[in-house]
This record gives sequence, C-alpha cells and structure tokens, in this order.
Amino acid sequence: MTERVYNFSPGPAVLPEPALAEAQRDLMALPGVGRSVLEISHRSATFKKMLDRAIDDLRSLLAIPAGYHVLFLQGGSRLQFSMVPMNLLRGTGRPADYILTGSWGNKAIAEARLEGDVRLAWDGKASHYDRLPQPSELDVDPRAAYVHFTSNETIQGVQFPREPEVGTVPLVCDASSDFLSRPVAIDRYGLLYACAQKNAGPAGVTVVIVREDMLAAVPERLPGMLDYRVHAQHGSLYNTPPVFGIYFVGLVTKWLRHEVGGLEAMAARNGRKAGWLYGAIDQSHGFYRGHARPECRSVMNVTFRLPSESLEKEFLRQAEAEGLVALGGHRSVGGIRASIYNAMPEAGVEALRDFMHAFHRQHAG
Ligand code: PMP
Repeated sequence: MTERVYNFSPGPAVLPEPALAEAQRDLMALPGVGRSVLEISHRSATFKKMLDRAIDDLRSLLAIPAGYHVLFLQGGSRLQFSMVPMNLLRGTGRPADYILTGSWGNKAIAEARLEGDVRLAWDGKASHYDRLPQPSELDVDPRAAYVHFTSNETIQGVQFPREPEVGTVPLVCDASSDFLSRPVAIDRYGLLYACAQKNAGPAGVTVVIVREDMLAAVPERLPGMLDYRVHAQHGSLYNTPPVFGIYFVGLVTKWLRHEVGGLEAMAARNGRKAGWLYGAIDQSHGFYRGHARPECRSVMNVTFRLPSESLEKEFLRQAEAEGLVALGGHRSVGGIRASIYNAMPEAGVEALRDFMHAFHRQHAG
C-alpha cells in the first residue's frame, strides 16, 4: 500500500505531510551536508543550528517568556512522571498535589508516591473520569511543592479548557496529548512536559519547559541524566540527545509557524474538527454516547460508545475498509476513540463524520 490512510492513532500519531516529505529527502543527504542528521555529531554546527531553531520555534509559537528553559529529554512522559517528583518533591518536606482526571494522571501519581507525600487535590473517579473539577471542588494545599494536572487525558478524552486555579502553588502539567494544539499561557506554569509522539514529532523525545526558579529546589546528588539542572546547564547536550526526534520536532514547528500560521490558527482548525465529530454524536439521539461531559470534551481525543460491543466491532471494521484507521478505544476502556491531532487533515475528520452519519442511518432502530 502506498496510499496514505486517515490515521486516527492516539500516538505515535499522524505527522504533517510536508514534514514527512522533507525528512524523507533529508534522510539520504541534508542539503549542503551530504549526510543525514542520523550521521553527524550532535556537537556539529549543523546539528546545533537544528537544535537552536527548534527551540526558537517553540519559544515563538508558545510565546515562552525569558526565564524558562526548553529541554529535549528522553524516556517519554513516563520518565517525567518520575523526574518531576525526584527534582521538585524529594527532600522538600512538603506534599505534592495531583488533580486526577484520568488514566495518565493515575500513573503519574503512582510514580510520585515513590518519592514523597502525594495528596489528591481532586479525583474524578466517582464519575469514571468523565469530567473536570469545578473550581470550588479543588482542594489545594497552599504548602504543596507543586500541583500536577494532565491538560488532556488521552484515554478518557477529557481536556482542561484552561489552567486550573491553584493560587501561588507552582503548576506542573503533563501536556503530552495537547501540546502545540493551542496557545498556552506558559507564565502560569512552573513546568510543562510533553512526549512528542502525538502533536510534535516522533517517539523518543520529550519536551520539558521549566521555569528557572523551579531548579532551586532540585536536590543534590541526583543522577545526572535525571537532574533538570544538568540538562539545562548543558543545553540538552549533556549526553547524545535524540537527534532525529529533535530534528523532526523542528520540521513540525516550522510547519506550524509558516504553513499553519501559529497556534491560534491551529486551535481554530482543531476546534472545527472536534466540532464536527461531537456534532455527529449529539445529533445521533443517543446512538453514539460520548464519554466526556460536553463542557469537558477533548479537542484531541473524541471518545464514544455505540449501543453494543458488536456494533463497535462492526463500526471499526467498516471504518477501516474506508481508510479510517486506528479508531479503537484504549484497551482499558473500549469503545471508539478518534484522535484528531494537529496533523489530521480536516478532510479526514469530515470523512469520519460522514461515515458516522451513514453508519448510524444503517443501524438505527
Ligand atoms: N501522558 C499522557 C497524557 C499520554 O497520553 C501518554 C502517552 N499516551 C503518556 C503520558 C506516556 O507517554 P510515554 O509513552 O511517552 O511515556
């Protein structure tokens, strides 16, 4: 098969075609270099330029203020589940507060508990993680070392429309599955991290944006690779960084800046796409049942059920036959999940919406 399908994978996910085409060309020889990024020193001027450009693009796209480091690390977001409490909780004598809105937050908490005292500032378990806390429901300890939240829970499809209000306690965010999908007020954060394999590039590189003053809390004698200060001091070149991933993030940020026109434009496009699928759910008279409550719906991962598991299987089978692939919900929750990250073209979402309407007509009552 050489035709590209509409790929609704939750991650690793669809990437922008201009970025894939440029990478394909560059893999034999970078123009003027005669070798690919996989074959040059990470300390070469060529790579340094790529690294600097990717950081500049991220700074520009997200309007990252001075006083924040942009780091490219390895180990995925799962390693951040550990590095955050190792660096920011260990030895502080304070608790860390977690706002729990789904499966990934739960995994982050399990790792933080290995490091210190973890409090739940809110837990959405009672309604199966279908909603976000009301401001009045949040119980944040003003002494907490930080408050962690997951801006978009990839499995449940629940997304914060804006940052939770946590007073003066530093905000830490797992933004893995909505990074670069919309503008973000970085100055509200102490630290924000995102693995790349949804919106930003290939698996293997994780972006960490951390405010300088957060590094003051980092304990002594952490292993170098696990110490944010070390990575910040070395400008992400402490060891050999994930060169291909950083190069590719640079291609994606170039696409976002110069072809999409920035994160406002990206957010508008993403809002339109999500609106079409939620519209199909809402117009189906209960045939499709969205998991997230309407005011908490994710613009990135649209999760829903059909009247029976056998209909869900049939839906997935017919969708795949029409070139709409990877729509199965996470194995822990089942159902359907359409991941419609930045690089999913509008035409792909329109095709899925039309398929949903047709499937409903075919199977309704
Ligand atoms: N957090 C969220 C919100 C995610 O969606 C994922 C990946 N699906 C992770 C963390 C884990 O990322 P990784 O596999 O890169 O460790």
